[in-house]
Amino acid sequence: MKLTKVLAAFLCLSIVFNMVVQPVQAVKAWEMDQSIVSLPLLTTSTHGWMDSLGVDRVQEVLPPKNPENVVYLTFDDGPDPTWTVQILDILERYQAGATFYVIGYNVVSHPEIVREIASREQTISVHGFNHLDLSSAGYTFFYNEIHDTETAIMDALQADQELIQQFGRCMRPPYGKKSQLLSANAAAMNYEISMWNIDTKDWSGLSPEEILVHFTSALEPQKVILMHDGGLDRTNTVKALELILHELLMQGYTVLPYCTHEGQAIKTSN
Ligand SMILES: [Zn+2]
Repeated sequence: MKLTKVLAAFLCLSIVFNMVVQPVQAVKAWEMDQSIVSLPLLTTSTHGWMDSLGVDRVQEVLPPKNPENVVYLTFDDGPDPTWTVQILDILERYQAGATFYVIGYNVVSHPEIVREIASREQTISVHGFNHLDLSSAGYTFFYNEIHDTETAIMDALQADQELIQQFGRCMRPPYGKKSQLLSANAAAMNYEISMWNIDTKDWSGLSPEEILVHFTSALEPQKVILMHDGGLDRTNTVKALELILHELLMQGYTVLPYCTHEGQAIKTSN
């Protein structure tokens, strides 16, 4: 009889332990995971844990931002109705800024995406109207390529002064082909030239995980990052962007647009 009472008491204590103590331990284990600065390589989407936490909770468990750690994010070859909006969603989720160097003929086809970029407070600059190598183009040809793209952007923004503030007078040479002639032509139009110093190689067929490894090995403050939101299937870019922004968040980086209405943030020489 006495043994039965002891067993019953033990059973009750086990149930109480399972109900109360274990859930508390589970939360603590999770908190420890999220406070580790360098998380292991992610193989699945990261936004599950961010969505479930909410922004305030995420800020609580992140390392403090280091004001020195700034990088600039850029996207070429859009706007694209499939990829650009997915990228905008990810940027918003990570509170990251980017500049989109758009192709004029894509702007004419998808002005609503250009408006979306501006209304989501990202910035827009010029890549060229027809995505041609402009390094040996004479001034008239160069002028038409840049001016026609700028006009298409302005038409897309429909004279909305607030959206026009998201346009910056910078141009990214198609194929990265730069020359003294191109620099002179750009200067004559009061345009700055936006190069980059971390090519994520999202165009090369690398997997998202390989892009992350390559990116992380090149990461330093004040770098300009090149990615693409149009032209080809950008599934790997979208996945890699999430991995890259997660890594930057965990390392306390701030991610900003490279070119704004006030001009280019820093010079790039390559
Ligand atoms: Zn391009």
